[in-house]
Amino acid sequence: MCGSEQDYITQAFDKNWIAPVGNNIDVFENLLCNFIKEDTHVAALNSGTAAIHLGLLLLGVSKGDEVICQSLTFAASANPILYLGATPIFVDSERDTWNLSPDLLEIAIKDRIAKGKKPKAIIAVHLYGMPYKVNKIRNLADKYNIPILEDSAEALGSKYKGDKCGSFGDLGVFSFNGNKIITTSAGGALVAKNLETKNRAIYLATQARDMAPYYQHSEVGYNYRMSNILAGIGRGQMEVLENRVQSRRDIYDYYKDRLQNIPEIEFLDEPKDYFSNRWLSCILTSSFEIRERIRLALEKENIDSRTLWKPLHLQPIFQESPSFLDGTSEDIFQRGLCLPSGSNLTEEEQERVISIISYVTEKVLKLA
Ligand SMILES: *Cc1c(COP(=O)(O)O)cnc(C)c1O
Repeated sequence: MCGSEQDYITQAFDKNWIAPVGNNIDVFENLLCNFIKEDTHVAALNSGTAAIHLGLLLLGVSKGDEVICQSLTFAASANPILYLGATPIFVDSERDTWNLSPDLLEIAIKDRIAKGKKPKAIIAVHLYGMPYKVNKIRNLADKYNIPILEDSAEALGSKYKGDKCGSFGDLGVFSFNGNKIITTSAGGALVAKNLETKNRAIYLATQARDMAPYYQHSEVGYNYRMSNILAGIGRGQMEVLENRVQSRRDIYDYYKDRLQNIPEIEFLDEPKDYFSNRWLSCILTSSFEIRERIRLALEKENIDSRTLWKPLHLQPIFQESPSFLDGTSEDIFQRGLCLPSGSNLTEEEQERVISIISYVTEKVLKLA
């Protein structure tokens, strides 16, 4: 927290706006619109997962439909497909961004169309803050006339050709969960291209109540709106967003500068025109064994590193889903590691991580 979050919460308490309506929500939504792009319309919700669920509903996904989803991502990207009784179709990643492979995406689309099941939507993810191949994915979506749900949960502050992530999909999604680059402790948002869609999202998120003097419901509704208290935290966090992005990028650059000469360690550079918020600093090691040695050596020193997201096509809950694979996501999963990346990490703390990685990799070299 930066400090001013408390002031906005206090304002909400003083005015007794404790419900999921109030000034903090309106201001937070406006701040997000202004940040992302003119003419976007943002609905603040109580999680990123809720935003994906409503997004799929708004794109018309229903029981029996198929939805294409990037396999290398957090389960929350795809769980809402199952909430709707639809089937996820998983597509592998490409090396340049670790995101949706345009080649495999087209193969998947053609295959499903040939089988008489045109996918209802494409869920594309900017993993760890690195934008996916925005132009290529957009061209394919337009060519086959399939809408994109842009999972930008990890990419607030990232850019492609100068435009902000969250603005590229037919609908965009953000998360403000506790682990994201800014947080409302729990929260999310849906980014729409017009006011009508935003209003429909809010209607569905507040129990789909009809305009009537009594409680009447003609559609199934949800309790997905953000509370005015948490939106106060979001208002404060928006003041430090650019700072947080800079801190994360500095942390990544520091690791890269100190570790890039080790042959067993690789970094994912930004392709030309890409700007990543570097939500988490990730490395690719030369093998699963070395990744594990590093992870366990860090753990021994009480330092928490994490493996990358386990691809969804390998998850027990998604076993039945068709998938289009070339081994990339599995390989990245086997060899990848997320290093400590919190915005308040100090250089001394980074040096501890770096010295352990250097020690482990030198020892491996000597053994070889
Ligand atoms: C965090 C995250 C979500 C879900 O957001 P919540 O606010 O935790 O529900 C969805 N997709 C990705 C890629 C995420 O990292």
